[in-house]
Amino acid sequence: MIERYNIVNNRYLLKDLGVLKHHLAKYYSVVQIQKDADGEKLWTEQFGDKIEPLFGHNHLPLTSPKGFLFAEKEVLYKFDGETFKTILPQVQPKVMFGVQACDLSAIAYQDKFFEHDPYYQKRRENILLVGIDCESPCVTGFCVQVDAGPHVKDNTADLVLSRLNVDDANGSSEWLVIAATEKGINSIKGMTLDKADNKHLKLRTKLLEKVRSEFVDYSYISNAIEYLNNNSVPAQLWEELSVRCLGCSGCTNLCPTCSCYTTYDVVEQQPEKPVSISREVKLEVTKSETIRCWDSCLFEGFQKEASGHNPSQKAAQRVERFWFHKFSDEYLPEFQRYGCVGCGRCEQTCPGTIGVHSVMKRIDQQCCS
Ligand code: SF4
Ligand code: SF4
Repeated sequence: MIERYNIVNNRYLLKDLGVLKHHLAKYYSVVQIQKDADGEKLWTEQFGDKIEPLFGHNHLPLTSPKGFLFAEKEVLYKFDGETFKTILPQVQPKVMFGVQACDLSAIAYQDKFFEHDPYYQKRRENILLVGIDCESPCVTGFCVQVDAGPHVKDNTADLVLSRLNVDDANGSSEWLVIAATEKGINSIKGMTLDKADNKHLKLRTKLLEKVRSEFVDYSYISNAIEYLNNNSVPAQLWEELSVRCLGCSGCTNLCPTCSCYTTYDVVEQQPEKPVSISREVKLEVTKSETIRCWDSCLFEGFQKEASGHNPSQKAAQRVERFWFHKFSDEYLPEFQRYGCVGCGRCEQTCPGTIGVHSVMKRIDQQCCS
């Protein structure tokens, strides 16, 4: 788990982020947002000496870093015919370089959800989180509305990067580097860094206010959250919205806080020995693997029970349940925040146009009329 640490004496200045990344790359494998061959931006592990420039502070990629902590597919146990063995992931220390505030809030949320999950925790313990303050609102983002950004929130990153100045003439910048945890402090040991002081922290706060003021008015989201929690959304609206859900799982795969999973077994069998001709041939399991993979609460069979009963047989029940999970006050005592961090990815990906903005706007319009 992330330790809380007094940041007052651990803030520095840096001209070139490449220097920090080269330093960290000596101890960690670097994961950051990169462009693929088609120009698509995604979280990727870097190999070799290549140092890509950072652009996360201006652009939120469609994928989040979720898969580096909560693997899309992994083996949990193996059975060799006699005993079961837990298969914990083999992990190398990684630095996630330049994670935006919304995704960091999502990781903090997942840290709680997977608090007792040894597979998640093994990866998490080996990750250094370097957060970066966003410098402008992203296209469908509304982190401000759900208290997840645009600047890195306290206790969500080991190191925090904030660009204080840009010199347009020569393209150079001045960065504030805050080491917010002991892990963060240890990670920059050996670097020669100038100390920052209160005026730099004040400048960061001023820049935060500027970015916050640039967000458009998304008050329909706050209104809709209230209606959801008052149970005043008519059942008919869920029916109408659910007709548009194709059950494709685009939203749940891209959502950085979604954590639904399923498990299944891959089994090898052979006839039991000795085989008696007088009775039916029985098969015995000689090997098996229990695999976990991402699932989606929007799939029809997600909640189906062994008895055959399905509490969310209807698409309307599934869509309502999804949004209830994102915005219900019921989960605040456990997670201290909503299950939505305002990244807007579901809006961008949903082929049925029932992402967060579309749904919350409809709820607001219908409930206030
Ligand atoms: S992305 Fe849209 S259509 Fe696909 S599962 Fe999610 S809500 Fe349904
Ligand atoms: S519900 Fe949508 S906006 Fe909210 S965190 Fe998930 S993908 Fe992002």
